Amino acid sequence: MTYLSREDCERLDREDPLAHFRNEFTLPDGVVYMTGNSLGAMPTKALARAQDVISRQWGVDLIKSWNVNDWFTLTTHIGDQIATTIGADAGEVVMTDSTGINLYKVLSAALTLRPERKKIVMEGSNFPTDNYMAQGLLKQLGSDYEIVFAEGDDITKAIDNSVAVVCLTQVHYKTGRLLDMQAITALTHEAGAISVWDLCHSAGALPVELNACDADFAIGCTYKYYNGGPGSPAFIFVAKRHQGKALQPLTGWWGHKAPFAFERDYTPADDIIQMLSGTQPILTMSVSEIGIEISARADMQQIRNKSLAMGDLMIRLIEEQCGEYGFEVISPKGDLRGSQVAMSHKEGYPIMQALITAGIMGDFRAPDTLRFGITPLYLRYVDLWDAIAELKNIMDTNRWQQAQYNQRHAVT
Ligand SMILES: *Cc1c(COP(=O)(O)O)cnc(C)c1O
Repeated sequence: MTYLSREDCERLDREDPLAHFRNEFTLPDGVVYMTGNSLGAMPTKALARAQDVISRQWGVDLIKSWNVNDWFTLTTHIGDQIATTIGADAGEVVMTDSTGINLYKVLSAALTLRPERKKIVMEGSNFPTDNYMAQGLLKQLGSDYEIVFAEGDDITKAIDNSVAVVCLTQVHYKTGRLLDMQAITALTHEAGAISVWDLCHSAGALPVELNACDADFAIGCTYKYYNGGPGSPAFIFVAKRHQGKALQPLTGWWGHKAPFAFERDYTPADDIIQMLSGTQPILTMSVSEIGIEISARADMQQIRNKSLAMGDLMIRLIEEQCGEYGFEVISPKGDLRGSQVAMSHKEGYPIMQALITAGIMGDFRAPDTLRFGITPLYLRYVDLWDAIAELKNIMDTNRWQQAQYNQRHAVT
């Protein structure tokens, strides 16, 4: 095996067509940021946007801002930018609310399209909020509804013509495994069911082709790979053919056909606007546009190429440098992986704490998973090299055994 050097990584950075994007982000000195799959880094211009939206738009223009600063149309204006990154058309995506709330809305809407069927296929090991939201919805709908939980390769076996909706997350939050959206959506439609895709770990991280895959509904968040900022709102995709037909249950005035007519009764808008419920968090939404605009400008295929090269490199470095220490890479190799590398180790928690203290920011997911997000817009090949060199040092010196790294924090 030929060993890779730090100089090799520097050369890869010089040849990287995406390298210039790093200049658009502010990152602290001495930090290797590998948690962009949980909270993306700060685009430098976000600060000026926050200042403008607070001091000028709110402070001076006041309520006129709904019109003069386009606050009222921000949801679709940003939605259209997101659409370009996930293979959707203008008018098919709206930015609003949180991922969990949006899942509730689209799952309800999807079920109304198949009223005679009562089953939802989901993955039990998915990020829990998706399952929790579905369970809450089914409790309201009544006892004849059920969730059929399946895992990985068994998902396709669970899809038959008794299923109403297949609701899956394209990239698994823990392992990084990528599902075949094209094949699963085709199978879903053959069974006469409706597809709902959660894009939390794929939107902005790899080319997503919703319309080419004939997807029905999708949701996703913007504070991960889109670098929208903490708590930035999520998005909803509804294929044109379902708009005005599949109705969501949170029927607030923003989803009304004529919100400023102030009518007594609800009449849904017949386009993507119907997915809205009420007044949006304009400050955070406006700031999020900075990061989303960067993603819309980047070439998603270049992002994918770099992400895969980096992930494969990282796995190789772990095997070369830390092979003796009992790490098990649980992410798939090659293009079956999304944009993160996860590995398990029984001392994963203190090892991650020691890494974070040394400036290598990954995260830990119970019971034993160390996660490293790969964000090609601002992560360099040398960063990967430095991260694994630090990991090796932590293991060589048993630094992770120190008491300070073994105290659990609330957020891991
Ligand atoms: C990050 C993530 C969420 C986040 O949901 P919130 O409503 O923003 O808390 C939901 N689902 C998946 C699969 C995620 O990865």
